[in-house]
Amino acid sequence: MKIITGIAEARQYVGGSTKRRVLVPTMGALHRGHLELVRIARGAAGNDGEIVLSIFVNPLQFAPGGDFEKYPRPTNADESACRDAGVDLVFRPTVAEMYAADRSIFVEEIALSRVMEGKSRPGHFRGVCTVVAKLFNILAPHAAVFGEKDFQQLAIIRRLVRDLSYPVEIIGAPTMREDDGLACSSRNQYLNAEERKQAAVLHKALSGARDFTGSAREVLARVRQTIGEAPLARIDYVELVDADTLEPIQSVRRNSLLAVAVFFGHTRLIDNMRLR
Ligand code: AMP
Repeated sequence: MKIITGIAEARQYVGGSTKRRVLVPTMGALHRGHLELVRIARGAAGNDGEIVLSIFVNPLQFAPGGDFEKYPRPTNADESACRDAGVDLVFRPTVAEMYAADRSIFVEEIALSRVMEGKSRPGHFRGVCTVVAKLFNILAPHAAVFGEKDFQQLAIIRRLVRDLSYPVEIIGAPTMREDDGLACSSRNQYLNAEERKQAAVLHKALSGARDFTGSAREVLARVRQTIGEAPLARIDYVELVDADTLEPIQSVRRNSLLAVAVFFGHTRLIDNMRLR
């Protein structure tokens, strides 16, 4: 497995390869969710193809005063996890390598990012779109894998590829969960024991609504009530939206998506579920 930190070196590597290349963009602190993305990437690349996993804690997608500084960066553990998972290249640039101090161009999506995460975290998707565009430009992947856990992000990346004509196939990967249903996340390690225990309520609330048919008002009330059973939970949003447009809908129908963001202490967790 090769590890590259510089853009020029990455370009040289990519320019010298004729293999089908599948990219897995991450911020590191790798867990089972990321490894599932790698597994799917191997299926998409084939045995003759190559998997590039990028590790970059992207300052542009964090709010000022957010957890950028304290975001976990277990470099050695991440690299050995990549080696074990069959990653061919780890691209691990520094912030200085990725962003000139006087940078003045950004990539911004202006429709899908108006709701949910985009509304709660102004500038977040601008940071995500900008870094993903740069990774596509540097690494020229044939395909890239993103998790459905960040459902809105996946939808916005598909839009980025469509609207800016990137020749990159976007592959969605199902959400990996812990035994109690909590979605795997690098941020779960911020939770103390009691918060961690109570965080299982998110999946419980979402799966409790899975077969629900009725009005948005009813389903949202039900989800809020279940989350409210956890005394440490503080709801940021609970939304019922169309899974394609991300527009709020009035009742459960085909292609509905239920999405939640909930604080436990200072830790903000997100999760979602398709309702059929
Ligand atoms: P992150 O390192 O949090 O930026 O995530 C990198 C990629 O892994 C994104 O495409 C996420 O959607 C995906 N991901 C994060 N958690 C999970 C999970 N529990 N299951 C599947 N994919 C995930």
